[in-house]
Amino acid sequence: MFMAKINPFKSAMQQLANAAQILKLNPRVLSQLKSPKRTLSVSVPVEMDNGELKVFEGFRVQYNDARGPFKGGLRFHPQVNLDEIKALAFWMAIKNAVVGVPYGGGKGGIVVNPKKLSKRELERLSRQFIGLIYKDIGPHVDVPAPDVNTTPEIMAWMADEYSKLVGSWQPAVITGKPLHLGGSRGREEATGFGGVVILKQAANALRLKRGASVAIQGFGNVGLFFARLANAAGFKVVAVSDSQGAIYNPRGLDIGKVEAHKKALGSLTHFPGAVNLTNEKLLQLPVDVLVPAALENQIHKGNAKKIQAKLIVEMANGPTTPEADVILHRRGVWVVPDVLANSGGVATSYLEWSQNLSGFYWGRDEVLKKLTGYMVEAWKNILREREKYQTDFRNAAFILALKRIADAMESRGN
Ligand code: GLU
Repeated sequence: MFMAKINPFKSAMQQLANAAQILKLNPRVLSQLKSPKRTLSVSVPVEMDNGELKVFEGFRVQYNDARGPFKGGLRFHPQVNLDEIKALAFWMAIKNAVVGVPYGGGKGGIVVNPKKLSKRELERLSRQFIGLIYKDIGPHVDVPAPDVNTTPEIMAWMADEYSKLVGSWQPAVITGKPLHLGGSRGREEATGFGGVVILKQAANALRLKRGASVAIQGFGNVGLFFARLANAAGFKVVAVSDSQGAIYNPRGLDIGKVEAHKKALGSLTHFPGAVNLTNEKLLQLPVDVLVPAALENQIHKGNAKKIQAKLIVEMANGPTTPEADVILHRRGVWVVPDVLANSGGVATSYLEWSQNLSGFYWGRDEVLKKLTGYMVEAWKNILREREKYQTDFRNAAFILALKRIADAMESRGN
């Protein structure tokens, strides 16, 4: 997938500066938000199946913990780098404040293509990584979770490794675990589910008609559940893509069949009745709603003018650069930011963590009802800030979050 060479941490700091200026954020708070509180950088030795030893680079960035333990996912990707993880950790601090869960922000990653490892190698990598950082994480310190290419199975290995090292079973050290190991009902679909709650709110506000068309970039956990649930909610998903390319049918795609096709052939291309497109062309389709659900920097100053959608729902983290934001806002396109749109994942991580700590578990309906409540509340709060400060959705979300983070920092006395 194409990635413009833009440093995500620079983008994140630009977004911080924009909102801080509008809000007139306390300079003492601002200066502390310009860099992470702590950065862990580790070398992870892994014995490969052929006996060879390989060393992988890993990071955990603990950005801010004014509102509670550091919280955020771990990604396994060959393009992971420290500035990307710093940006993602910062965005988690904002996101957790936006959606109102009592966490700070953190993120981690390993530079690896997990598709090239065997299952046993992946397990050894995951366990070794935890072995290197376990003293710096914990249920009340820093709580990792899944992100790009990391699964409930990986979370299970990590929870197990941590628990062995500290000598007791500690499910609350990590979220996104399998259901049978203290995971929460509803967590798997939570990010997509929360995104569709927001899609419905935004579509209503924009008066989009039933059957409004949606193009989704990315077909991982987030893109897939979003596609299924958007179709079920009466939208028409006309295009989806994975890292190899996109498929498009203006009459709509049967997502169940698309899923089966991808499973059978390993790729989306040549889906019956659809045309094949590049990921770049998917972004420029004549649709009502565009949903970037893959990686950062997809919508940038080079293509922002060509976007035809009226509404962008950011399900990936950091898919739109600050320069593109300016262009889109000027053109009247609504960009519902990542820190709101994809916050259903971490909101449900919070529900999982609470269940782990209390030992009392809820049913799926209960979890999704609570999740819906968080999403709708965050949406209303952002609309209010947007109105008050006459600004775009991203600034409004950042303003909401920065007020909450600043309150916590000031009350705690930093
Ligand atoms: N990786 C997800 C995100 O970017 C979820 C994080 C979490 O549940 O802690 O929001």
